Amino acid sequence: MGNEPAVEVAGLVKRYGAKTAVNGLDLTVERGAIAAVLGPNGAGKTTTVETCEGYRRPDEGSVRVLGLDPVAESAALRPRIGVMLQSGGVYAGARAEEMLRHTAKLHASPVDPGLLIERLGLESCGRTPYRRLSGGQQQRLALAMAVVGRPELVFLDEPTAGLDPQARRATWDLVRELRADGVTVVLTTHFMDEAEQLADHVSIIDAGRVIAGGTPEQLCRGGAENTLRFSGRPALDLASLLNALPADSAAAELTPGNYRIEGKVNPQMLATVTSWCAQHGVMPDRLAVERRTLEDVFLELTGKELRA
Ligand code: ATP
Repeated sequence: MGNEPAVEVAGLVKRYGAKTAVNGLDLTVERGAIAAVLGPNGAGKTTTVETCEGYRRPDEGSVRVLGLDPVAESAALRPRIGVMLQSGGVYAGARAEEMLRHTAKLHASPVDPGLLIERLGLESCGRTPYRRLSGGQQQRLALAMAVVGRPELVFLDEPTAGLDPQARRATWDLVRELRADGVTVVLTTHFMDEAEQLADHVSIIDAGRVIAGGTPEQLCRGGAENTLRFSGRPALDLASLLNALPADSAAAELTPGNYRIEGKVNPQMLATVTSWCAQHGVMPDRLAVERRTLEDVFLELTGKELRA
């Protein structure tokens, strides 16, 4: 096994006709890490991942996965990676357990399929044909099939989209265990909390490019230590609020009626804000001291909200 990163994407461009889906994207994923590719619908996440998996050929740029070219060396690469697609790729009439056992047999040292079925709460649907599984069950089966061969690297495309909270947690636990076993995980998501919870490294992508990258901590730290948020009526006079606050404070209306204040958030600042609210007849229906989230970072960078 080489020492090169698990994934190295440089200057990737991918077009569909006139539409540029990926537009000069760089991404490096270190071995043994969980990397999240976070972005809104249509940002180019799936296209990027499918190019890494060898399903799409780059129009420009280079892609190396486990040191190999995913298209030219796909025969060498395929047995070493696990792929969870958003949908499709399976025979609709096959039964869930049969499919998983069959996939396991294609690998030299698979995980016990029974164990995965239990872990992912699929016991009740082992004999159910794929097309009769619920969306969530199909998702979990796809995850099981991606990991049953003990791959060195797994790509999980929106692994928890549409899952209930319990299945979501089971998926997160499994992803963490994969990392503990030394597996590299690349996951795409548009759930910030998923990226914050799981990822060692997050790449935020928008319009086919990485617009920010780092650990969740680094990305959230930004300039401010703490943030004070409150909700009230839209279009409050923030300039007047800022006048009452220390000079290094910042205030912004993130979405109509949702405000964020950054600076030295201490009891004094809290008192200043609440007394300003009292003077201006503003009754906040929410007031909280919080750490910046990836959602804030994304909103600042793009002016858009991630749709969850
Ligand atoms: P989502 O979260 O919705 O899956 P994404 O970030 O994974 O989005 P992609 O699926 O990679 O984004 O799509 C990027 C852009 O390319 C979108 O504008 C999409 O409409 C377009 N696109 C994707 N696949 C095709 C295709 N086969 N033909 C034409 N356009 C496509």
